[in-house]
Amino acid sequence: MTKADAALRAEALESLLIEKGLLNEQMVDDVIVRYNERVGPMNGARVVARAWTDPGFKARLLQDGSAAIEEFAFEGGQIDKLVVVENTDQVHNVVVCTLCSCYPWAVLGLPPKWYKDPAYRSRIVREPRAVLAEFGTRLPDRQNVKVWDSSAEVRYMVLPQQPPEWQALSEGELAQRVTRDSMIGVTVAGDD
Ligand code: FE
Repeated sequence: MTKADAALRAEALESLLIEKGLLNEQMVDDVIVRYNERVGPMNGARVVARAWTDPGFKARLLQDGSAAIEEFAFEGGQIDKLVVVENTDQVHNVVVCTLCSCYPWAVLGLPPKWYKDPAYRSRIVREPRAVLAEFGTRLPDRQNVKVWDSSAEVRYMVLPQQPPEWQALSEGELAQRVTRDSMIGVTVAGDD
C-alpha cells in the first residue's frame, strides 16, 4: 500500500465510522491531540529518568515493563505488553515494526514518519549500522546491535545508557533531556 493509498483508506474508514455514528470528528481530533501534544515522548523520558535514578524501579521495569509503568498512571497508558530493553556497553538495542508501524504510543506518543517508512523497516534489519550512521549514531565495534521487531502484541522501548556527564542531574532534569529517538534506539542519549 502506498502512502497515498493508506491516507485515502484512513479517510474512508473515518467517514464510514462517522456515518455509522460510531465516531465523531471531535473524537478523532482528540486522540491525535492527546498523543501528539499531551503524551508525546515525554512519558517515556520520565520512565527512563526514573530507571536511571531508582535501581529498584529499573529492575521492575526490565522485568515487566507494562506493570512498572502503571506506577505513573499515564493517560492512555494501556499497553498489553511493553518490553523495555536496556542498552549496555555490549549491546545497543533498536526498535522497528517490520510489518507495519506498531509503536508504544502510551510512552512515546505518535510514531515519527520515518518509523513507518518501508525503507527504515527493512533496512534497519539488514544493515542496522548503516541506518544508525544516517541518524548520526556510530557505535563502537564491541557493541552488538540488536533489532527488536514490534507487533500488535508486544511493544518495545529502549532504556538508553545514562551519559556519564548526566550523573549529577535530578530525575526531573534527566527527563527533560531524554529524546524520543534514543528510546527507539536510533540515537544515543546525550549524543542527539
Ligand atoms: Fe506494526
